[in-house]
Amino acid sequence: DSVGIAVVGLGKLSQGQILPALKRTKGAHLAALVSGVPEKAKKWADEFGLADSAIYNYHNFDAIARDPTIQIVYIVLPNSMHAEFTVRSFKAGKHVLCEKPMSVTLTEAERMIAAGKAANRQLMIAYRCHYDPVNVTGMQLMRKGVIGTPRLINAVMGKQTTLSDSSDAWRLDMAMSGGGALADMGIYGINATRYLLAEEPTEVRGWARTDKSDPRFKTVEDMVVWQMKFPSGAIGDGSSCFSQPGTMAWQAIGTERRLVADPGCFYGGNAIKIVGGSNDTQPQVAEIDHFGNEMNWFADVVRGRVPNVSPGEEGLQDMRIMHAILQSVDNGGSAVKIAFGYKRAYDP
Ligand code: NAD
Repeated sequence: DSVGIAVVGLGKLSQGQILPALKRTKGAHLAALVSGVPEKAKKWADEFGLADSAIYNYHNFDAIARDPTIQIVYIVLPNSMHAEFTVRSFKAGKHVLCEKPMSVTLTEAERMIAAGKAANRQLMIAYRCHYDPVNVTGMQLMRKGVIGTPRLINAVMGKQTTLSDSSDAWRLDMAMSGGGALADMGIYGINATRYLLAEEPTEVRGWARTDKSDPRFKTVEDMVVWQMKFPSGAIGDGSSCFSQPGTMAWQAIGTERRLVADPGCFYGGNAIKIVGGSNDTQPQVAEIDHFGNEMNWFADVVRGRVPNVSPGEEGLQDMRIMHAILQSVDNGGSAVKIAFGYKRAYDP
């Protein structure tokens, strides 16, 4: 009883990760492709043995309502298109798996959540690290108190960008990305800080360092650093940057030990180390396919077998925090107090 997924947007992530993963998933399978480029869709349809009738474009997309082979729509488009296609998918009666960040504005994010509720369908944000054994192990070690009392979570997320790469070009456009490196990669650091501490920040600060003469940064900031205060007394501190080598690392520093994950949020090859005490240890964690695991999990969510670990509300919380950080950036780094009343519903 595998669940049918329609993948919308055949860019770098879909072609490089998601479609290959769908060849191995047990709980989910590729049921349809949605693309603006017919030749590209045809090539992938042939590879999966799908009929031409399983190929949609952005105009005839709403016809998926009459296609019972599709239960889930996976939205892998530039961020500014997430809200529109999420709402259209719910109107078609489908469940939605939407890439991060869930949208460009808070209003859009709220509209997406409301549309899911109105349609009585599931909305899951594709936070793949929630389904990655390395990060799940990190959460479990934190809950066991392995590091003692948490003091500081440090997260460093970034990569190098080029305007000539079409996947980077929209990321460097405020209207399409909603916020440069922070929205694209900083979001992993903010999300990780929250899931490692299992609490929500009450105050944030941010400041930016951007070379405004660099043509890449006409509309978005390059480097944004942030600090978040948590009720327990812990501090979250991190950075996101679009002019550094690919980095997705976090470390959790406690009164007794540190947990170090570097890389911590790559597609694969992540590792976690417990540093301090009598000797350092590296818990052995199985390597899995993030995207396959995430799609299998969502297939189980729609079949009512497991909880929705990263629902729209989880995505909205990060959106609100990033919004507050950018507000602080605009105010020269002054503290912004926040209280959104959100609590994560599920902890592994
Ligand atoms: P991409 O630019 O490579 O792909 C986007 C696709 O959308 C392309 O096929 C493009 O043709 C299509 N598209 C349709 N209308 C467009 C328009 N008006 N302008 C530009 N492109 C348009 O981007 P990507 O790297 O595949 O990212 C897609 C989404 O996935 C983004 O939301 C991104 O944040 C997210 N993402 C998530 C991860 C992850 O690890 N979870 C990794 C990479 C990207």
